[in-house]
Order: sequence, then C-alpha cells, then structure tokens
Amino acid sequence: MSQQFDVVVIGSGPAGYVAAIRCAQLGFNTACVEQWLSPDHKPVYGGTCLNVGCIPSKALLDTSHKFHEMQHRFDAHGIRVERGAIDVAAMMARKNQVVGQLTKGVAGLFRSNKVTGISGRGRLLGRGRVEVTATDGERQEINATHVILASGSEPMTIPPTPVDNDLIVDSSGALEFDAVPEKLGVIGAGVIGLELGSVWSRLGSKVTILEALDDFLPALDRKMARESLKILVRQGLDIQLGARVAGSRINRRRKHPVTVSYRNAEGDREASFDKLIVAVGRRPVSGDLADPAAGLAVDERGFVEVDEFCAANLADVYAVGDLVRGPMLAHKGMEEGVMVAERLAGKKTQVNYDLVPAVIYTHPEIAWAGKTEDEMKQAGVETITGNFAFAASGRALAAHDTDGMVKLVVEKASDRIVGCQVIGASAADLLQQMVIAMEFGASAEDIALTMFPHPALSEVVHESALAVHGHAIHKANRKRQEPAP
Ligand code: FAD
Ligand code: NAD
Repeated sequence: MSQQFDVVVIGSGPAGYVAAIRCAQLGFNTACVEQWLSPDHKPVYGGTCLNVGCIPSKALLDTSHKFHEMQHRFDAHGIRVERGAIDVAAMMARKNQVVGQLTKGVAGLFRSNKVTGISGRGRLLGRGRVEVTATDGERQEINATHVILASGSEPMTIPPTPVDNDLIVDSSGALEFDAVPEKLGVIGAGVIGLELGSVWSRLGSKVTILEALDDFLPALDRKMARESLKILVRQGLDIQLGARVAGSRINRRRKHPVTVSYRNAEGDREASFDKLIVAVGRRPVSGDLADPAAGLAVDERGFVEVDEFCAANLADVYAVGDLVRGPMLAHKGMEEGVMVAERLAGKKTQVNYDLVPAVIYTHPEIAWAGKTEDEMKQAGVETITGNFAFAASGRALAAHDTDGMVKLVVEKASDRIVGCQVIGASAADLLQQMVIAMEFGASAEDIALTMFPHPALSEVVHESALAVHGHAIHKANRKRQEPAP
C-alpha cells in the first residue's frame, strides 16, 4: 500500500525545507522528497542555497575578504604582517565543513519536526499523487492531500561557451577551484559574476568580467550603480560592459588555455584565461517535474504558473521558490513556503512582493529594497531623497571602511519611505532596518526622530533620513533647512 501524507514537498532547498518544517509545525503529516546526494551517496537536504549557492559562496567571500584585508588593509591600522599565502585546499575544506554542518542541520530539523525525508526524484502524477524514483531506479507512488513543488533552479548556459566543468565552469564549478587562476574570465556582471569574481580577485586572480548589457546592475538606482561600478573597478575587477560573447576555444598547450572572442563598442576582441565562469542567470527546474497528463501549467520560460498565494492551476498543488515568478532569492522562497503552509492551515498569510530585499555580498555590500527614484517618477509620484556617505561616519572611518553611501527614497506627499539602497560595509543589515521601517509604513521623520547608537554604522541610515528634509548633522545639507522657530 502506498504511503499517505497530508503534504508532500518536492525539493528541499530553502523554499521546500521551510515549507515542510512549517507544515509539520502546523500539525500536517509531511514528507519532503529530495534527489540531491552527497559525493558518498547520502541524501542531502538544503538545495542550491546550502550546497552550491548562498552558503558556500559566502564562506569563500568571507575567507577571501579576510585575506585581502590582511594583504592590503592591515598596514593602515599599524598591523605589520608578512604578506601571507592562501591555502586553497584549507579554504575549501572550511567551506565544505560549513556546508556539511548546515545540511546536517536541516536533516536534524526534519527529525525534530517529524518531517519524513524521502530520497529520490519526485514527479507529480496528478492530484495528490507523486511518483518517487530512487537512485537504484525503484519507483513508488506516495499520496498526499496537498503537494508543494519546490524543485528550484539551475545555471543557464550559452552556446558560445559550453560548460565542461573543468576549464569552463558554472557557479558550482567556480566554488571548487583547486588553485587560484592567474587569469579568470567571467561572463555576466550579475550577482554571481560580481560575488565569485570578487572571491578570486581578492585571492590574486586578474579578473575580467564580460557583460552583454551596456548598463551595470540595471535594477539599481543609476547613481548607486555608477558608485558600485567605480568601487569594484578600483578593487581591480576589469568589468567590460556591452561585451557580446561570440565564441570560445580551448588549447591546453597555451599558458591561458581558454580564449573567448567577443565584440564590444571598439570592435572584435579576444581574451585568454586559465578558467572561465559562465554566470548568465538561472532557469527553473520544471522539465520532468510533472507527468504531462497531470496538466500542470508552465510558462514559456519554464516557471510553474501560480497566483499570488503560490497556488498552481491544479487543485491542491502549490509551487514556491525559484520555480515560480519573482526574484530567485532564498528568502523569497522561504517566505512563500511559510505562506503556503499557513494558508493550508487556514491562516491569511501573504508575501509582500514589493519589499523583497536584494543584496550583492561584495565588499562593500550592495543592497536594495522597495522603489527607486526613477520607478517612482515613471509612476508619476513625486519623491524626495536623502543621501549620506559612509565617509562621513565616525564608525566607518574608525574601521577604515568608508566606501559607499545610503539613498532613501521618500514619497513627497506623505513623507513615507518607499525605497532604500545601500552600498557599504554591512549594507544587508543596514538595509533591513529600512525594510522593517517600510513594512510598518514609517516616514522619514519617524526614522529621523529615532535614536541610533553612537558610534554605529547604522547612523548612516539615520543621517540619510535627516537629509531628506535637509537636517543631516554630519554633512553640509544642499536642501534648504526649515527656518528656526
Ligand atoms: P533550490 O535551492 O534550487 O532547491 C531545489 C531542490 O529541489 C534541490 O535540492 C534539488 O535537488 C531538488 N529537486 C529538483 N527537482 C527534484 C525532483 N524532481 N525530485 C526531488 N528533488 C528535486 N540567494 C540569496 O537569497 N542570497 C544569496 O546570497 C544567494 N547566493 C547564491 C549564490 C550562488 C552561487 C547561487 C547559485 C545562488 C545563490 N542564491 C542566493 C540563490 C538561491 O540559492 C536560490 O534562490 C535558492 O536556493 C532557491 O531555493 P529553492 O528552494 O527554490 O530551490
Ligand atoms: P543575474 O541575472 O544576476 O546576472 C546575469 C548577468 O549575465 C546579467 O547581467 C546579464 O545581462 C548577463 N548576461 C546574460 N547573457 C549574457 C551573455 N551572453 N554575455 C554576457 N553577459 C550575459 O544571474 P546570475 O548572476 O547568474 O545569478 C542567478 C540568480 O541567482 C540571480 O537571480 C540571483 O538572484 C541569484 N543569486 C543571488 C545572490 C545573492 O542574493 N547575493 C547571489 C548569487 C546568485
């Protein structure tokens, strides 16, 4: 007889495992089907995020940041050290240890919440019916009242640079180099290109990033994008915009075996590298997720079609995370997983898709949420803005970490904060203060009247709120101040 559950989740990335745990917390008998296996063939939970995404990339970013600080920034503090060397194998071992600890942590959470983990490939057969194929090929059908699809995404490739997982790699391969490449090419100046390009650049690679678009980070406010580009170029990243990649060839006898041909405003160009990372976006994993007879609606790009509450076109079937529309971010999927679980339990939980924070974990970090000034202008809404530079923060100066700035976008009529962008040390955490403010409908004045600890980096957020009305204390205000009472 087939196993019967209240809920079956397919995929245990951040969207799937969070959905499964929340369902179990709410009293549903829940199973989570996951196909990922460790190199020694043990089931592994956590998906892209824990295994080859957010966590390993941040582990390498943190190691490489410390190394770069030691090599280039300690001197300014009067700390004299030998220039030091990076032990790539030890760095990778630490990264793998962090990944292992967290993936085992998810398995532990499944146990403590009584989520049944099932190893194998899940496939939706129809309402309430899921087929699971184990690695040995054995198939079983399991049944559930509700099915949550959370099969995530995978790296996209482009024909001119086929990934061989040796010299030309995707983001997963770029987390596994066994030595620092002397010359590293990256295709795509998006989030992955900038984060992983920074990792290897800090460790000594000469990094060239080829980006097809003429604009750098189009989601950002233009001024903030220009500022970010300036800082990253100053750090040594050669970021070439408007570079259309035409082809690649490999000659292992050459010192730099991968040659990429591309075209930019100056004409046809070639560049040779030791390794090439292809980071041109990700696509949903929906190919064999459902039997065609089940009738699951999938759009032309492979995203499972869902409504605002992540309900698919089939009764009692939901889809969450990278598999569905919206930014491909772990926290967006987690919130969707919680929403679906709680709505199954009769709650009215929603996700606020207008306030999904985004962060690029370079140093300084680049973080944003809400609307840009341009978006508000296009919507015909008058705004005022408040800027403040980290260079004017006592804490940033004390830490010798003064790159970056904050920009707050405020609706003029109501004084309500509608957007925030931060470039700077700890930008992710500083931005989050404004995400909370925006969730609660706070005005620039509310933040201006809030007391911030001194000296703290968060004072840059306070000063940017003061600057909205020309009251910033620690800079010369360009805006006219209110007359004295
Ligand atoms: P995934 O994490 O992709 O998980 C899907 C799971 O489903 C996988 O385990 C897969 O094996 C499994 N699966 C697929 N099909 C089946 C099937 N048929 N049967 C059983 N199991 C199946 N996001 C951030 O928010 N912050 C970051 O800092 C960040 N850094 C990143 C760095 C890198 C290098 C990469 C590649 C991504 C990064 N992301 C980051 C994006 C983030 O990893 C994804 O948005 C997130 O993992 C998506 O979660 P998910 O649960 O939807 O899918
Ligand atoms: P991305 O969409 O951020 O960037 C891809 C870049 O490649 C774009 O700038 C695009 O214009 C460029 N590009 C596309 N085709 C090209 C071509 N043929 N030649 C040159 N450039 C080309 O995608 P990504 O960096 O691959 O990241 C994938 C997803 O993973 C993103 O959606 C991101 O949200 C997520 N992610 C998030 C984080 C984070 O939150 N810190 C980190 C890594 C990845």
